[in-house]
Amino acid sequence: SKPIVAIVGRPNVGKSTLFNQIGKQRVSIVDDMPGVTRDRIYLDAEWLGHAFTMIDTGGIELDESDHILKSMRQQAQIAMEEADVILFVVDGRAGLTTADEEVGHLLRSTKKPVVLAVNKVDSPEREMDMYEFYSLGLGDPIGISASNARNLGDLLDAVVAAF
Ligand code: GDP
Ligand code: MG
Repeated sequence: SKPIVAIVGRPNVGKSTLFNQIGKQRVSIVDDMPGVTRDRIYLDAEWLGHAFTMIDTGGIELDESDHILKSMRQQAQIAMEEADVILFVVDGRAGLTTADEEVGHLLRSTKKPVVLAVNKVDSPEREMDMYEFYSLGLGDPIGISASNARNLGDLLDAVVAAF
């Protein structure tokens, strides 16, 4: 079966935007409540002939998910169990946070490959934003802009190279 790529990261780092860009389709499932949309969680995608399934763990409804750190630990746990490659997304504009460090710590304990994407690096001028993320100890961060589709090729090259 296809390799599974799980996206992990804090709320608002751009996981859903990235997910939709990679799937090249903007799909949101309309919830029962008017005006509320719920993000799609699974998506089949392909890059350079490599087919894979993506999971946006941020869209999974978890117990007590109102607590950010707790829900992020649960997301990371799901990713470490289910995924072949973990795509850890952080926010270059917000900078490194305690929650990122906590998840980074968990992800360093897995033998599975982790690709670190620093999102919201919208232009070459913002590339400096990604350097502080080297301290996560997860290898070279890849600066991307999910909303501008910037550097997504480099990111996907790194993801499929890890299969
Ligand atoms: P999620 O909570 O991690 O799924 O994040 P979303 O995909 O919902 O995005 C959160 C916010 O960040 C939204 O307002 C997006 O428009 C914005 N965003 C996502 N990607 C980028 C990006 O590459 N650059 C900038 N400047 N904003 C982005
Ligand atoms: Mg989302």
